[in-house]
Amino acid sequence: MATIQFLGATRTVTGSKHLVEVNGHRTMVDCGLFQGLKELRLRNWEPFPLDPSSINSVILTHAHIDHTGYLPKLVRDGFAGPVYATPATVELARIMLPDSARLQEEDAAYANKSGASKHKPALPLYTERDATEALRLFESVNYHKRVRLTEKLSFEFVTAGHIIGSSFVIFDFESLDGGRKRMIMTGDLGRYDEPIIPDPSNVDDADYIVVESTYGDRDHPDYDVKTKLAEIISETARRGGHVLIPAFAVGRTQQLLYLIRELEDENRIPILPVFVDSPMAVSATKLYLRHTEDHDLEMKDLMDERRNPLATKRFNLARTIQESKNVSAEEESTIVISASGMATGGRILHHLRKRLRDERNTVVFVGFQAAGTRGRRLVDGEQEIKIFGEFVPVRARIEKLENLSAHADSREILRWLGGFKRAPEKVFLVHGEPGAQETLKNKIVEKFGWQVEIPEYLERFEL
Ligand SMILES: [Zn+2]
Repeated sequence: MATIQFLGATRTVTGSKHLVEVNGHRTMVDCGLFQGLKELRLRNWEPFPLDPSSINSVILTHAHIDHTGYLPKLVRDGFAGPVYATPATVELARIMLPDSARLQEEDAAYANKSGASKHKPALPLYTERDATEALRLFESVNYHKRVRLTEKLSFEFVTAGHIIGSSFVIFDFESLDGGRKRMIMTGDLGRYDEPIIPDPSNVDDADYIVVESTYGDRDHPDYDVKTKLAEIISETARRGGHVLIPAFAVGRTQQLLYLIRELEDENRIPILPVFVDSPMAVSATKLYLRHTEDHDLEMKDLMDERRNPLATKRFNLARTIQESKNVSAEEESTIVISASGMATGGRILHHLRKRLRDERNTVVFVGFQAAGTRGRRLVDGEQEIKIFGEFVPVRARIEKLENLSAHADSREILRWLGGFKRAPEKVFLVHGEPGAQETLKNKIVEKFGWQVEIPEYLERFEL
């Protein structure tokens, strides 16, 4: 008997958790935190839908917090099995889970100070110690190495092309009635022809496909992203303004540095001080340079020439709070890249509070902005944004560079699905908002005639 139950990222883009059960063995693919809308965030605090100690193992597709950030809580509540991830994902998690815990602890401390919580005292969802405990359970698994979870259930990782370490999980299992099945789960599906990271792996055979659908109703615009970025930087510099880029510390930040460095090499932008203001981005950037198994050829060539492909001419890292404060006091035009990418927390908030009110500045969003986040409100054109309890007028220009998203758009999802040589029994759409999922479902049905499900929260299917 084999089943899959969807414990997160159902009709939304966060909280990825999918429970696969084969003949009594339970493994969970991803263990993400819910983010964005309050009704979703509250799920992080509800009792887990099943006893965490009954789960035998966790498999992580990649290190982003909406795929890993619930793990410390799961471990504190009783999960004790191994956590399988690729070597780069393991290293990233060592940076990101303690960082996530610190944010939880800061939130609780803030709630206690401001009296904003009805719980006294307000407690963090988990602590740095819980994160450390969770990290002890990690086991590093290379791409294409088959891991046997039981006699009848095994999996392997192949590259997903999303961030370094990102992978699809390919399960092979035999149910009690003797049927052999293959299921592939994408985690986040990357893009084709991107710098640094290789293309998503082509897979041609599966009985079940669980695929993300963030951009299921959209194609990334056709404009040349480098040209648009060059225009934004040059025009902002001409006005004497600053360019502020909220970005995931892992993935987007490195992609941006690569592009800005190229634009400088090609003399297409003025040479401005570039600040990466995020301790995590600093560590992640080093890690990007080290994990060459995840690089594409272009990046490898530059490194062979002993050039740092991620260092611009006037490159600065801000590690400490004081360094961060100095960045936001800069008078000369700067480019500042800082987390979080959806402006839900982190140092970017201090920069936004200072820079949003000046019409010379530009804020550039480079990733998907989930419903309920400040990032979404800004790209939707709100005139005023609340930051640290203060209403800040939005006078800066707000730009979107969707081409820089690390997620496949609808064309690319269909291109990837087109690689399968036979019809799967079922395709499950996860990690998307309802409109995007309905549109993608219709496209898949129209193009391939396959059976597509859009699971509800906690819905379970027999495989
Ligand atoms: Zn991701």
